[in-house]
Amino acid sequence: MKGLAFAIIRYGSIWNDPAWNVAVPNPATAHHPRAESVFTEYPASFILIRHPKVGYILYDVGDFPDGEDGVPRPVYWKEYFRPQMRREDYIDRILPRYGVQLSEVSHIILSHMHYDHAGGIKFFKGTHAAQNVFVPKEDFVQGCLAALTADNEQTTESPYWRSIMTAPGIAYHLLEEDTELFPGVKVLLLPGHTPAVGALLLELESGNYLFPNDACSSRINYGPPVHPTAILYDSLGYEKSVIKLRRIEREHKAKLIYSHDLQADQSYRHFPYFYE
Ligand SMILES: [Zn+2]
Repeated sequence: MKGLAFAIIRYGSIWNDPAWNVAVPNPATAHHPRAESVFTEYPASFILIRHPKVGYILYDVGDFPDGEDGVPRPVYWKEYFRPQMRREDYIDRILPRYGVQLSEVSHIILSHMHYDHAGGIKFFKGTHAAQNVFVPKEDFVQGCLAALTADNEQTTESPYWRSIMTAPGIAYHLLEEDTELFPGVKVLLLPGHTPAVGALLLELESGNYLFPNDACSSRINYGPPVHPTAILYDSLGYEKSVIKLRRIEREHKAKLIYSHDLQADQSYRHFPYFYE
């Protein structure tokens, strides 16, 4: 679509054991019985879409700074998934730094409700965009179950956090099937990592871009063969989703943009640059 553009906004990194991202990445063997795990850097990002009819649309909103709303980050997530972000790179500062105000965003699409993709929604209370937030229904339901049955956010080992699921002033619109939300902007629901991750397909004038998000967060996961993540709701669904992604990539001659792949990220151009 003419005039449709997007920017990749890298807001920081998450450091963790690679075994969370790819199941059995470095197996011990008869000859190497003590294979070691190494704390590894994974990029964290979200996408700003500039749409000729709709204006600015966000695809994910990134994380929220530890404790800034009086709710400290859960202890487990500080230890196992260490965030490395500068305060000025969270969504409320990185957008205005390059001339985009939160009040100018018209719609928000959340791929899923995990904290590193949805936490920044807390910044949007009272904005126009807060009334237009789309999220896959099955993921949202799972997030409510996980967050509302945990008695204390500080001790949760779930990536769904109560203070995000219940962030005030946000009107969620739940997606139940693959949907073209706006001309050239399609959301595809993919089970596996969670009951449904909303992947994104953007049809630019220069070509198509496919964002699998955490349905397949890196090149290694994509294969072939498929290497599932260890943060996994449905292993058979994960494999089917990657096969569906490969079909869409082929049929649309799409370029893939991964959500947590450091090597791939180093080949991308970042905000304020726009692909168009
Ligand atoms: Zn996730």
